[in-house]
Amino acid sequence: MSAKPRILIVEDEPAIADAIRYVLTSNGFDVAWCQTGTEALATFRGQGADLVVLDVGLPDTSGFDLFRQMKDGRDIPVIFLTARSDEIDRVVGLELGADDYIAKPFSPRELAARVRTILRRSSRVVGKAEVAAAAVADTALPFRLDEERRQIRYYGQLLDLSRYEFGILRQLLLRPGRVYTREELMYQVWEAPEVSSDRTVDTHIKMLRAKLKLIAPAIEAIRTHRGTGYALAETYPDAP
Ligand code: CA
Repeated sequence: MSAKPRILIVEDEPAIADAIRYVLTSNGFDVAWCQTGTEALATFRGQGADLVVLDVGLPDTSGFDLFRQMKDGRDIPVIFLTARSDEIDRVVGLELGADDYIAKPFSPRELAARVRTILRRSSRVVGKAEVAAAAVADTALPFRLDEERRQIRYYGQLLDLSRYEFGILRQLLLRPGRVYTREELMYQVWEAPEVSSDRTVDTHIKMLRAKLKLIAPAIEAIRTHRGTGYALAETYPDAP
């Protein structure tokens, strides 16, 4: 299995495929490209994919027929590339969701943002550190995670974090907006969770918030959900 989320691009126009390939590769995805439906089906069956970017108008088949063949009872995250409004109508008819098509011409950066959104919501890849890296590369978030150095930057400034503070913030960054219970955080972050108490998590969150506030006093980056736990805010101003 690949270390990065794998994206299969099915698009017969090389210029469009190149632009998509470039932006997805630079966003940390592992990208494969096929020009025909036949080639795509063979690649998909042989190697799989975490998400498929699928042009509706292919030389040998329609993207819809190809999707049906790939799907075969399973849930495959997909983004259809559509050129005409009647194609959009058909995508909407598939009841996949609002993120699942993009009309040509489109910006490759917008496509990359859609890919990240869909992978985040796709349960098949939840919890993969690779998705975390992709999410944190999301320029909409002011956080930058460096797993190798175990460092996190916030609005460009390096946070001075203890081991547990780093672990908690890293975990929240895996899926911005997702509410983690104290128990979950403890389980993910502590080596011996049974010897710690819920209060321990609260104490570290308090310290973490104080450190974030030093950089951005007006921003509540870590939200409390009463009776449930904590979540990372999903939207931030451009500057602290
Ligand atoms: Ca086409």
